[in-house]
Amino acid sequence: TIGMIALDKKGNMAAGTSTNGLTHKIPGRVGDSPIIGAGAYADSSAGAAAATGDGDLMMRFLPSYLAVELMRAGADPSAACKSAISRIKRFYPDFFGAIVCANTTGHYGAACNKAPSLTQFHYMVSNSESDTPVMKSADCF
Ligand code: ASP
Repeated sequence: TIGMIALDKKGNMAAGTSTNGLTHKIPGRVGDSPIIGAGAYADSSAGAAAATGDGDLMMRFLPSYLAVELMRAGADPSAACKSAISRIKRFYPDFFGAIVCANTTGHYGAACNKAPSLTQFHYMVSNSESDTPVMKSADCF
């Protein structure tokens, strides 16, 4: 999945995903990516989030919606991302998944669940003042 969050100069936020789904997916599978609140969610009065990973599992927890609501309640983006992952981890300790979060002030963060194939999650950050996107990473927990 490619997940994106955008914040414009007026404070409007948007989030979206593009995905090829899972390998060997069954015909007609929708997955989490196009489900609002699962794959991505944005609210210009709170923040935005976008998730990637095992969609069949993640879509049952609406991690993007949860992260945005936590930011609305005052959590910083990293903490909101972490809580959204923790919620799933409680039931599926080994699931494969990550999420990026940003708030209306342009602060951002990410979190991922530690799995044999995922120990660090890399993401790109770009803003209008710099030409070059910067790569960031989050250590999975
Ligand atoms: N979440 C996507 C899906 O399950 C897969 C991915 O993130 O790469 O369809």
